[in-house]
Amino acid sequence: MSNTINCDVLVVGGGPGGYPAAIRAGQLGLKTVIVEGDRLGGTCLIRGCIPSKAVIHAASRFDDMAALHQSSSMGLTLKSAPALDMGGLRSWKDGIVDQLSTGVGGLLKAAKVQVIDGWATFTNAKTAVIAKSDGSETKITAQNVILANGSSETEIPALPFDGEHVLSSTHVLDLDDLPKTVAIVGAGYIGVELGSALTKLGSKVTFVEAGPQILPSYDSELVKPVSQWLKKKGVEVKLNTKATGVDTSKGKPVLSVSSEDAGEETLSVNKIIVAVGRRPRLEGWGLETMGVDLANGFIAIDNQCRTSMSGVFAIGDITGEPMLAHRATTQGEIAAEIISGQKRVFDPTAIAAVCFTEPEIVGVGLSPNEAHQAGIDVITGRFPFAASGRALAMDAGQPKGFVRVTARKDDHVIIGMHAVGHHVAELSGEFALALEMGAVLEDVSQTIHVHPTLSESTAESVLSALGHPIHIAAAKR
Ligand code: FAD
Repeated sequence: MSNTINCDVLVVGGGPGGYPAAIRAGQLGLKTVIVEGDRLGGTCLIRGCIPSKAVIHAASRFDDMAALHQSSSMGLTLKSAPALDMGGLRSWKDGIVDQLSTGVGGLLKAAKVQVIDGWATFTNAKTAVIAKSDGSETKITAQNVILANGSSETEIPALPFDGEHVLSSTHVLDLDDLPKTVAIVGAGYIGVELGSALTKLGSKVTFVEAGPQILPSYDSELVKPVSQWLKKKGVEVKLNTKATGVDTSKGKPVLSVSSEDAGEETLSVNKIIVAVGRRPRLEGWGLETMGVDLANGFIAIDNQCRTSMSGVFAIGDITGEPMLAHRATTQGEIAAEIISGQKRVFDPTAIAAVCFTEPEIVGVGLSPNEAHQAGIDVITGRFPFAASGRALAMDAGQPKGFVRVTARKDDHVIIGMHAVGHHVAELSGEFALALEMGAVLEDVSQTIHVHPTLSESTAESVLSALGHPIHIAAAKR
């Protein structure tokens, strides 16, 4: 053991939970060490949110260009078809990842956080041995520990990842060649985002989904425009269908699937992608030595991100759903501030979620159905992007996207805001703010929204809920 470090805060994991926690702890004057076994940025920056959105963006541009080659639009035509260089796309994506990962290193340095490149293994709740990338070891003892170990892809035992025939989302983001045919097992947001991007780049995609609907965490009204786009693009969606195995003996993978309607079938494709969710990384780093309780397969925390062991906090994917980067980040900042003595709680009214599909879906809070199920009497308002000047001017009026607001009938407090349409991810901030501030319909309707922007549609959906929309005919009440 080369040396021992004593610190106020040891953060394990340099993802979107861990690095903001370390930066905040450093800013607050705490002697802080962060340990990352892979690259700073974690799943989000290195193999998740950012690289996937880069690929999705490039794929959309390619698809738009291909469409302009096939038929002119807006007075624009492309004389020749666009060409795809997957290696070039990958390098561009890698450049963004490198820039951001390096940037995180700079931010940690500015906050006087010591970064250790290595794998932490705990020997008790406050002591970890770090196996560093240079082969040496360092022991760290800490007053406080923030666990931000994140999550990894869920593997189906019958379809183990091999990086060649059966790919994880990480493998997909590093493809050097575009597969002609792809079967995607799992039609949650990661599967549908990646499948939509591959479709735009020219792959023939088939989804195999065990449930009755793609994107199961969103209601069918929101999912419909996405399903329509997939259908228009020739994507096959096999619902209520289970993937049961793979045969790679003939060089090309053959996926076995089974459903009540069609019985047993096989799909011969170039690649199989398994995207059936993520599981918390609970093994391989000495969690069992720490005296930390689990709940439902995650590390159990209270509303201050405290675990059952005094001085040990946990944040991000390792602590449960929703496994989203912005939840991890907020928890990280809160944990650091609590350690420094501030009074903070993690108690969001709702956490917005976005699907970067075609078109995009954004949701925060309850859908009308969820409100009914919870026994809440609601009024709803809806505004179609087909009636938005900005949407039409951006060629984003189709497919049939809309904004929908759900509010309690008695006091007009907004309890849900949802949208489906092009570029709606950018509405998520206003939606989340409205719910977090406890806004009533009148707060949003009396907020002057810039013309022409998509956000006007939010105000219009609220006017519709109040029964006096301006830019659509009022629904009979
Ligand atoms: P992670 O980001 O998983 O980071 C954990 C880090 O800890 C890793 O870098 C790991 O190497 C390190 N680590 C673990 N154990 C040790 C140890 N013992 N020693 C040293 N280091 C260790 N979320 C969104 O909000 N929006 C999106 O658009 C989105 N898109 C996604 C797309 C894809 C393809 C994927 C896979 C995920 C996406 N996510 C998205 C989810 C998001 O990436 C995660 O919710 C987020 O990264 C969780 O952050 P975290 O800090 O909890 O863990």
